[in-house]
Amino acid sequence: MRLVLFGAPGSGKGTQAARLKQDLGIPHISTGDLLRAEIKAESELGKKAKSIMDAGQLLSDDIMLGIIEDRLGQADAKPGFILDGYPRNLAQAEALDAVLARIGQPLDVVIKLDVPNEAIVDRCVVRFNKEGRPDDNPDTVKKRLAIYADQTAPVAAFYEKRGKLKVVDGVGELDDVTARIKTALGQTTAASA
Ligand code: AMP
Repeated sequence: MRLVLFGAPGSGKGTQAARLKQDLGIPHISTGDLLRAEIKAESELGKKAKSIMDAGQLLSDDIMLGIIEDRLGQADAKPGFILDGYPRNLAQAEALDAVLARIGQPLDVVIKLDVPNEAIVDRCVVRFNKEGRPDDNPDTVKKRLAIYADQTAPVAAFYEKRGKLKVVDGVGELDDVTARIKTALGQTTAASA
């Protein structure tokens, strides 16, 4: 199963991906986590990424494509993957399509977690207090939501046109959201069987 979990920052992509990977037996590939690991390791990439991420901005498409090509090329991603945080704009969606077409492994489905902005802001405050992510401070969250609306949200229409988008209500208990995603994935598997 090759799956993208899509949605606004704080919509629960990371949390749900971590739950699904057990069941599906495929890796959870979070570009945000990959970048945070680079920052922790104080690599050149990490140094470059930190100020951009802390400001709630996006890294360049070139850098992100390099990261994603490298990660998707690793052995554990052969049976499939759950992508979280990529693609974040139309250029990245086109680039991902091209990479996957080249290796003959197109996406199966894009699940969009639908969560209203007010709930997102509340969730990021909770995460800020718990994990201390600098980009979860309320002002930066507002910036990230504006970038999401402007650059990332149009990616949903890109996948809808290709018949790959499923929208799932991301509000409610974690177990309920997981169950809704699994139902959507079950429909995908049934449709492609
Ligand atoms: P996330 O953990 O997915 O919210 O990502 C945290 C931050 O990492 C984002 O706000 C961006 O600064 C950066 N980032 C992650 N994925 C991407 C991407 N696909 N394109 C550009 N920047 C990204």
